[in-house]
Amino acid sequence: MWVVEIEVMAVSHNSMLRCVSVSSGIAHGTAYVLSSVDRTMVARRSLKATDVASEIARFDSALTAAEKGLLALREDVARRIGASEADIFTAQALVVRDNGLRAKVVTVIQQSLVNVEAAVVEVIERFTRAFDQVPDAYLRERAADVRDVGRRILAALAADDGTRALEIPEGSILVADELLPSATARFELSQVKALVTERGGKFSHTSILARSMRIPALTGVQEARSKIQTGDKLIVDGMSGILFINPDKPVRREYERLEAELSGYRAGLQKGIDLPSVTLDGTVVPLLANASKVSDTEAAYLYRADGIGLYRTEFAFSIRSAFPTEEEQYQLLKRAAERMHPRKIVLRLLDMGGDKQLPYFPLPASRNPSLAQRGIRLLLKNPEVLKTQLRAFLRVSADHPVSVLLPVVGGLDEVRGARAVLAEVMADLAAEGIAFNPKIPVGAMIEIPAAATLTAVLAKELDFFSLGTNDLVQYLLAADREDDSVADYYQPLHPAVLRSIRFVADAARAAGRPLTICGEIAGDPAYTELLLGLGLRAFSVAPGEMLEVKDAIRSVTIKEAETLAAAALEMGSTSEIVALLEQRRSASSAS
Ligand code: PEP
Ligand code: MG
Repeated sequence: MWVVEIEVMAVSHNSMLRCVSVSSGIAHGTAYVLSSVDRTMVARRSLKATDVASEIARFDSALTAAEKGLLALREDVARRIGASEADIFTAQALVVRDNGLRAKVVTVIQQSLVNVEAAVVEVIERFTRAFDQVPDAYLRERAADVRDVGRRILAALAADDGTRALEIPEGSILVADELLPSATARFELSQVKALVTERGGKFSHTSILARSMRIPALTGVQEARSKIQTGDKLIVDGMSGILFINPDKPVRREYERLEAELSGYRAGLQKGIDLPSVTLDGTVVPLLANASKVSDTEAAYLYRADGIGLYRTEFAFSIRSAFPTEEEQYQLLKRAAERMHPRKIVLRLLDMGGDKQLPYFPLPASRNPSLAQRGIRLLLKNPEVLKTQLRAFLRVSADHPVSVLLPVVGGLDEVRGARAVLAEVMADLAAEGIAFNPKIPVGAMIEIPAAATLTAVLAKELDFFSLGTNDLVQYLLAADREDDSVADYYQPLHPAVLRSIRFVADAARAAGRPLTICGEIAGDPAYTELLLGLGLRAFSVAPGEMLEVKDAIRSVTIKEAETLAAAALEMGSTSEIVALLEQRRSASSAS
């Protein structure tokens, strides 16, 4: 997770567009851009420089063919109707032969390295858009004539009447200005992974069709056809209404995981999905989901998560070029909360700093970023960022059971500092007449060893805890979680880690404070029995891991788990504990 977030910072910020979702779902694929002149659909392709000359030759033959067709039409109309009625085709033939038109199209082909069809569309659109603006109705009508000329040239290029099937590579994401039924009739919608259009409404024919076929679709994507090129890699998030153009690896990875979860669900891998998360001896173990974006709540919902145990808010910050406003944050979180309602969502405050940087939020250089400004420390130094986030959280709390989680807490001072800001924000909201839950639960991540040691003390001023083993392991063992050179020292099964987990679980239970484990080890079924034995009774894991973890929970008794944990706690080295778990695994697979 950490890796993802660090790298996300490198994402080009031009690459994310917010749009209107008309059909939900997630898809990634290669863009196939359709251009249109008056709704005659053509594909936009990139050219190699060496193909330019032959493309211009195609254009010249098309001009000759279009001119010939127009002159033949003029003769026909003159003969059948009258000479003056035929004049329009003379005028159109002149436009076809206009040197200015040819020169403009050739320039687009040469400079943009696109196919002639796309160049014709671009030039005609540019030209007619100018005409469309003029107040004189007669002149505006001339735009239609020019469009007609464009259509004729395109028809000549296609060597047919424009009804030929569009050859769209299977698995493409179709990008168009507007998809009318006449266009969608010309390709197999089932071969298309997603639709992206500049215009179109929720109830347009294509949107309805997309929903019925479960094809994600976004609309309102302004200038989609100039921002996107055929061949661009796209991610369509039809749940959040977000389009990524050529996203970087971390964003791709985030969505690949979500897509796999959603398709795994659809493929019927949801065996046992409705079974309760309960041990063989009847202990209910709430199974929650980790999420970093609104669309993750869809997977969480499908996998029957008992709630969101950890909503990492960093993702929404890292894909933008400036801090999201309070309203933007509120809208996103509200959607997530609505999806999960009435289940709870634990909203974690921004965990920036260390290696996780935002280009618009420069941090002082540090010799050792993991031990520098991070999480709640950084937020307390930037109260405006903290206040904006808290306002958004509190507004969601008016209608949904959300709680606030403080990241990277080291002691009570930070808890009190955060609570003081929370009280200030609550007072502001109350003065403004904005509703919120004045009893919103506040909890802390236990991920710094100091916080683990102080669990009982922190419990006096907090409502719940989340055990962040990803960081706890790195800080406890002085092994950077991102540094390959110390990967061997980053040992989640180190005896000191197990003792710390046991200590925290005992302290939280004694203080009557709920504790959920949300680090990566919670999602690995190989650890489930041991973690139950160490006293953990709630797990928050990636949605795609929920079924396996549930299966592991359903396969053990608390007594067996405690026996295993007691044996592990007796051991003084990681290798002995690894061997113990291995032995346990072989014994249970044999039985
Ligand atoms: C953790 O540290 O275990 C955790 C869940 O938080 P993150 O991975 O986001 O640092
Ligand atoms: Mg952490």
